[in-house]
Amino acid sequence: MDHFLYRNGELYAEDVPVSDIAASVGTPFYLYSTATLTRHFQLFDQALDGMDHMVCYAMKAASNQAILKTLADLGAGMDVVSGGEYARAKAAGVSGDRIVFSGVGKTRAEIRQALEGGIRQFNVESEPEMRVISEVATALGKTAPITVRVNPDVDAKTHAKIATGKSENKFGIPISKARAVYAEAAALPGIEVIGIDVHIGSQLTDLEPYELAYRKVAELTEQLRADGHTIKRLDLGGGLGIPYARSNEAPPLPQDYGALIKRTVGHLGCEIEIEPGRLIAGNAGILVSRVIYVKQGEGRQFLILDSAMNDLIRPAMYDAYHDIVPVVEAAPGVEQQPFDIVGPVCESGDTFAKNRMMPPLQAGDLVAFRSAGAYGAVMSSEYNTRPLVPEVLAKGDQFAVIRKRPDFDEIINRDTIPPWL
Ligand SMILES: *Cc1c(COP(=O)(O)O)cnc(C)c1O
Repeated sequence: MDHFLYRNGELYAEDVPVSDIAASVGTPFYLYSTATLTRHFQLFDQALDGMDHMVCYAMKAASNQAILKTLADLGAGMDVVSGGEYARAKAAGVSGDRIVFSGVGKTRAEIRQALEGGIRQFNVESEPEMRVISEVATALGKTAPITVRVNPDVDAKTHAKIATGKSENKFGIPISKARAVYAEAAALPGIEVIGIDVHIGSQLTDLEPYELAYRKVAELTEQLRADGHTIKRLDLGGGLGIPYARSNEAPPLPQDYGALIKRTVGHLGCEIEIEPGRLIAGNAGILVSRVIYVKQGEGRQFLILDSAMNDLIRPAMYDAYHDIVPVVEAAPGVEQQPFDIVGPVCESGDTFAKNRMMPPLQAGDLVAFRSAGAYGAVMSSEYNTRPLVPEVLAKGDQFAVIRKRPDFDEIINRDTIPPWL
């Protein structure tokens, strides 16, 4: 459920007409709903009710300061995957003891940054990384709390580019090697083992892979405890999918996911962390765009928009589907027509949809890409020197620009000319 609904035939973000924001900000822009962000965070939080838990928002999904602050104010921790994200989380007011650091390539500088600024735990992804964390911590006179990310070798049944829990993926250590790795961890001076981490992929539309993975984690918890390790925290990752095509998809609900967690690992008495990103931000954001031209091609009609693959890369990168809807609803009974919906970038891959049935649209009309809040703005670029797409946050009858569109001078002045030119 989200808060982008039609009223009297016009799309609203909460209580604000989307066309009012377009008139004020210009297109294209990302638009988020505070109420939807809040609702989705609370669904997860409530799903784990009765267990000691923390919902650590995977901020790579959408990392604007205003979004982070909205979620942090509700009690979210943060899952970060770079020094930049760590700095963003701190800047949004999140304390270090609510930040977990994931990712396969943490550098010494990033590890030092997190140890100095405070960290809830590092989710370790390899033995060499574990040794470096120990070294950096020892040099600082600190002890780094860690979990080891295990790769449970389960098929997440999602798109190959976002599956992370099979043995061929670069993530985590094979669960079969876990006991040896924990034995080494226990002997390292700069780290303190506190638990286990697992994250099997993104956009999971079925709970079964979680069931398989979490059962393996439960078994491992008991083995490691028998080996003498302290396992008091389980980080169970993120990845719950969202409906991108509303007409025919019904991914699992957070409360069913919460029940699964209780069923599979609830008896272990561990503190539970989860790291949802997409499900919190995905349907809380839309990308609003204007039709520049309707172009008649050979045997097809192109809808040329002012947004492009640099603004929303998911269709080009993952063959992702997004519902695209007119901001002003067509009159009832109007016949739909097939359109190829494209952007202005000079690549054939800059195609959002082919043969998409839409009501008749004209130059100047507004459309909205639904479910664009996660992995949208954060993956945008200035390819073709198209200014970074702005972001807007709505709350009730208010809205605010939370990242403004840079002007051409700002973009050009980021470059510097060497002295010999
Ligand atoms: C990307 C990622 C997540 C979030 O995945 P979603 O599909 O957005 O919920 C959580 N944990 C880790 C380690 C990740 O890399």
